[in-house]
Amino acid sequence: MTLRLYNTMTRRLEEFAPIEPGRVALYTCGPTIWNYAHIGNFRTFLFEDLLRRWLEAAGLDVYQVMNLTDVDDRTIQAAHAAGKSLREHVEPYARAFFEDRDYLRIRPAHAYPRATEFVAPMIALVESLLAKGAAYRGDDGSVYFAIARFPAYGRLSRLDQRELRTGASGRVSSDEYAKEDARDFVLWKAAQPVDEEVGAAWDAPFGRGRPGWHLECSAMALDLIAKQWGRDVLDIHCGGVDLIFPHHEDEIAQSCAHTGKPDFARIWMHAEFLSIRGAKMSKRFGNFTTARDLREDGLDPAALRLFFFQAHYRQKVDLNDESLQQATAALRRLGDFATRLGAAPPDGAGGPVAAGAEAELAGAARQMREQFANALDDDLNAPRAVAALFDFVTAGNRALDRGARVALEVREAFGWATGVLDVLPTLKSADAGLAAWVEERLAARQAARKVRDFAAADAIRAELAGRGVVLEDGPSGTKWRVE
Ligand SMILES: [Zn+2]
Repeated sequence: MTLRLYNTMTRRLEEFAPIEPGRVALYTCGPTIWNYAHIGNFRTFLFEDLLRRWLEAAGLDVYQVMNLTDVDDRTIQAAHAAGKSLREHVEPYARAFFEDRDYLRIRPAHAYPRATEFVAPMIALVESLLAKGAAYRGDDGSVYFAIARFPAYGRLSRLDQRELRTGASGRVSSDEYAKEDARDFVLWKAAQPVDEEVGAAWDAPFGRGRPGWHLECSAMALDLIAKQWGRDVLDIHCGGVDLIFPHHEDEIAQSCAHTGKPDFARIWMHAEFLSIRGAKMSKRFGNFTTARDLREDGLDPAALRLFFFQAHYRQKVDLNDESLQQATAALRRLGDFATRLGAAPPDGAGGPVAAGAEAELAGAARQMREQFANALDDDLNAPRAVAALFDFVTAGNRALDRGARVALEVREAFGWATGVLDVLPTLKSADAGLAAWVEERLAARQAARKVRDFAAADAIRAELAGRGVVLEDGPSGTKWRVE
């Protein structure tokens, strides 16, 4: 395997080699469960899903951690506004996140640590930073990270050319502060009345309070990879581009000041933004589109996966009605081919076959496998992998038109590629009762057509359409699908 990945830290493509052979420690910043996750967050989670699947397809043992931020400025404000405790407020959003993850066929991470359940390691990390002189207690009772004591600060976001304002006059206690304005950031926030009201305050040797958002990821990542593999450096750390600064910069400062290691992660990967355009789209969803909006709209998750994989993760992409319609049409083509390939006779079956059709099909499958793997090895170039898959569909249809029988290696290649992307359509016609009824009506329609009673045949087509069954008459008979 020669997988190359773009490392935000070096701004270069680098050959990926795990720190320990065969094992990959992968940390992916998760959602803040103050509300439903935006579909833009899921773009990042789907990129991470593909990364994970590709690493696993290469035989690597991946240990993936995704945190759930259940205490920060936003969760506290939202819980307070709703008149609930922090725990009561975030619980339904945590459940919703897992439902959306399953809808989008995202492979579950191995651990979903919640910040409020890791307060002890967070306190220990703050104590370590205080002892090393990398942190100090402010006169407001909060504990801050002293970026002047960490010369590597700004390496990931390339802040070095900008003015670093440090010291007591230049520090921030908010979890999210103005971009490109590096200041001492908060590690532990002194408890405020609102924190106490919603149950977001803990006792610590350096004062009652609660963790800062950046601290949460460092503490949970270090705690879990130490327990899993006795390590303190990650192989890959991922997130959206909006997390590069300050979140990931701060994670590096906290973690490396504590471990004394030059890196917190070997490779840093970031997914670009998703934008949402189109009057219809915004009318339907407003500015806040969630995965559940799309699910309730009946969108096949495979179409959404295909849509996202048709753009490289480092490219901005626009989600709109047109792009979703195109992805849905592409998905149908893929699904039709899968059905056709499944129904085609196997290698060695009897009957006539056009000369060369089988060799052509097997050759196309081998070429697809190679192009698909090369594309994903090249910094997870999913659009090229998807293109290779659709080139195979075209070549495959041509060979099947000529009566090609299908060798096992052909089925395996198609199953492997569609499995890595997980983009085959969701089966909606699994209802056996519906299938039997459709077959019965199709037989009746066929009988009507035989006696040239086209009015009756059309009535049956309309009857089927009323239940969402769409017919396609072709040279090999009538096919149907549920829409
Ligand atoms: Zn994080």
